Amino acid sequence: MLKLEIITLFPGLFKEHLKNLPFKRAVEKNLAEINLHNLRDHAIDKRGTVDGTTYGGGVGMILMIEPIYKALKEVMNYSDEQMMNFRHNAEKDKTRVILLSPNGIKFNQKTAENLGETSRIVFICGRYEGVDARIQEHFCTDTISIGDFVLSGGEIPALAIMEAVVRLIPGTILKEEATKIESFTFGKIEFPQYSKPENFLGYKVPEMLLSGNHQKIDEWRKLNSKEIQ
Ligand code: SAH
Repeated sequence: MLKLEIITLFPGLFKEHLKNLPFKRAVEKNLAEINLHNLRDHAIDKRGTVDGTTYGGGVGMILMIEPIYKALKEVMNYSDEQMMNFRHNAEKDKTRVILLSPNGIKFNQKTAENLGETSRIVFICGRYEGVDARIQEHFCTDTISIGDFVLSGGEIPALAIMEAVVRLIPGTILKEEATKIESFTFGKIEFPQYSKPENFLGYKVPEMLLSGNHQKIDEWRKLNSKEIQ
């Protein structure tokens, strides 16, 4: 059972997505448990403040350390003392605490496989101009980017990573084979696939695939799997 905990200011962004595959089946079959934690519940005041200006000046606000600290403390069920040695304790508890950030290590299929081996993953979704750097320095085990571009929040990156990890859990995808021969698993991109009709407005399916000769088809597919750049 893989536990996924998401700390976000926008839990609503996850809800619709979590009702669909692969999450739906993984949760139904008790292969995964997914919990949303609203960062607003850990605001520093009654007005719900979670963001502040940056020392040294700069445009815009960042998420403050305290609400994230408090959310993590609750999710991990840690004492103040355990929080002092956060990274060590998280590792001991087989929990990966991931801060989503463009400055992180770039996500790929290998990382998805590797994350799947843990028992719990906590995602910290940034917003605005980012997150107080002390979170990255002391209160996470990994910082992950989904690519060299900037989004407005860590929610879509968290969903992308969760989806890549959850669909690898055996039993989540019915045709398990499908995940084994997919793109990237063998270091190549998947071959092109075609369905009915054979001829659509003159756009034809490659003839080799209609031949019924499996050896030839395999050769064609190997030839047409692109190398990863
Ligand atoms: N000012 C920051 C960007 C902040 S974007 C900078 O220049 O680096 C706001 C939040 O969106 C980030 O804290 C992060 O959680 C998320 N985010 C944006 N782009 C991302 C990416 N490529 N990968 C992962 N998270 C990203």
